[in-house]
Amino acid sequence: MASFTLHGIPVSRGIAIGRAHLLAPAALDVKHYLIAEEQVEAEVQRLQSAIDTVHKELQIIWKELPPDAPAELGAFIDVHALILSDPMISEMPLDIIRSRHYNAEWALVTQIDELSAQFDEIEDAYLRERKNDIQQVGERVLKILTGSAALPGMKSAEESTAHMIVVAHDISPADMLQFRDRAFAGFVTDLGGQNSHTAIVARSLDIPAAVGMYNASALIAQDDWVIIDGDAGVVIVDPTPAVLEQYRELQARLVRERKKLSRLRKTPAVTRDGTEITMLANIELPEDCAAALDAGAVGVGLFRSEFLFMGRTGFGHRLPSEDEQFESYRQAVVAMKGRPVTIRTLDIGADKPLDTAEETALNPALGLRAIRYCLAEPQMFLAQLRAILRASAFGPIKLLIPMLAHAFEIDQTLLMIEQAKAQLREAHKKFDPLIPVGAMIEIPAAALTLPLFVKRMDFLSIGTNDLIQYTLAIDRVDHEVAHLYNPLHPAILYLLSTTISIGAKAGIPVSVCGEMAGDTKLTRLLLGMGLREFSMHPAQLLAVKQEILNSDLSVIVPRTKKIMRTFEPAAIMEAVDQLRVV
Ligand code: PEP
Ligand code: MG
Repeated sequence: MASFTLHGIPVSRGIAIGRAHLLAPAALDVKHYLIAEEQVEAEVQRLQSAIDTVHKELQIIWKELPPDAPAELGAFIDVHALILSDPMISEMPLDIIRSRHYNAEWALVTQIDELSAQFDEIEDAYLRERKNDIQQVGERVLKILTGSAALPGMKSAEESTAHMIVVAHDISPADMLQFRDRAFAGFVTDLGGQNSHTAIVARSLDIPAAVGMYNASALIAQDDWVIIDGDAGVVIVDPTPAVLEQYRELQARLVRERKKLSRLRKTPAVTRDGTEITMLANIELPEDCAAALDAGAVGVGLFRSEFLFMGRTGFGHRLPSEDEQFESYRQAVVAMKGRPVTIRTLDIGADKPLDTAEETALNPALGLRAIRYCLAEPQMFLAQLRAILRASAFGPIKLLIPMLAHAFEIDQTLLMIEQAKAQLREAHKKFDPLIPVGAMIEIPAAALTLPLFVKRMDFLSIGTNDLIQYTLAIDRVDHEVAHLYNPLHPAILYLLSTTISIGAKAGIPVSVCGEMAGDTKLTRLLLGMGLREFSMHPAQLLAVKQEILNSDLSVIVPRTKKIMRTFEPAAIMEAVDQLRVV
């Protein structure tokens, strides 16, 4: 067969080369027949027991989640359990059997098709993507009804899977779990975007993947040779020997580079002219501290505490109690062995919904999220503050507050921190009375009114992900506007550089903890703006450190000043590229 190339959405880095392992296509094509009146209740029972079995299966998968499983996976499995419990899935198909006498498979598929059609009408891209979850849940029930294995042919496969590339229409979170145990080389899926669970899990496993490939699973055949270029979102099927060789070399080079980078673990991050830079890690759970230390982080710059709250409500779980939270924060601070841990208070809403905080807002990104939500739920917020404060008795902790924009929000938050301290004093519980409190600068209004912040706060951390979203008015999870998401837009550069310089003038530390901090193409630009603290996913730390070690501020600073006076996008891009040429 001739070689061909497919283009999709790049969601994780690196090159994977291997044989295609096709997952069975959607099993929604089923037998249709009518049930005799006296058989109806038996058929209802058959479907009911398949639903029960899947419920149990999900519960087992959830309970047996390995401790190092990506945090999001539990949340995704919860979503499936919730869908399965919804009367639209758990009851409607039974009614269809009773009223129309359809066989169980037909009744289930009829209802799934109906729901899928309704989801197609939804405008919100994130919710629209949940249609896939409904179909995956449906398929799970169907597989029980028809007696087929969850992953055909894979359970018995003894051969090494390390060089297999999973090609599927879509991959359910539960199936994803099996892949992580089997060390697959990469993933290709027809569906999905930057934010789909395949993408998120692939990134957290650091495996090359390309999603949103439309009909890849129909075009690629079992055992075809496949190359995934994860950085470009390109998949090459049946490459010629010359292309295969070229990619093998590229892959070997990337592996060598990674190995070389690991030697920098203990090297202090200092520029050529002797300026010290602080390299911090972003974590989602206390367990991530190991990866942070492994990558040589000198502290945690962003602990996204909302991950402790997500994915817990599916099986009757509540929000984590003060004591449970305290344990997690303590675990993180102890794991970091005296290095500072910056814990961000709950930042839920929009792209990170809590089951219990179901999104009813018309525009969730602009709704009651993050600190707004916390100030509206003072008891919950106080419990989190007390838990963080109590953990500060075990090592250095900083408190970081997301999404602040108004002076009164800062004042109310500081008052609540004092209230939490008073409660702890009364209960004779220990804490660090001088715990530093900082603000995320991620709303343009905050970046434009910094005097309000530097007067009240001990440090600032720029959340470029949201700052870009709100400045450029583009939803960060909507792939239809993904092309407008530009960190080099002059408006973003202006807000970044003024925040960094005003912070420096006021003598308070400023870090960047959004994705920009981990992008090696932007490291020198940020250094040139005066940034001295970078916080990023541990996997990016060493590459950014290498960039820092090769930078000379005396060259970069004047060039960055010039970039700040440039408005033409092409000229900015060119000048930012040139910063890397010394
Ligand atoms: C940001 O907005 O840049 C950020 C770091 O926070 P999150 O991505 O969790 O919103
Ligand atoms: Mg944010």
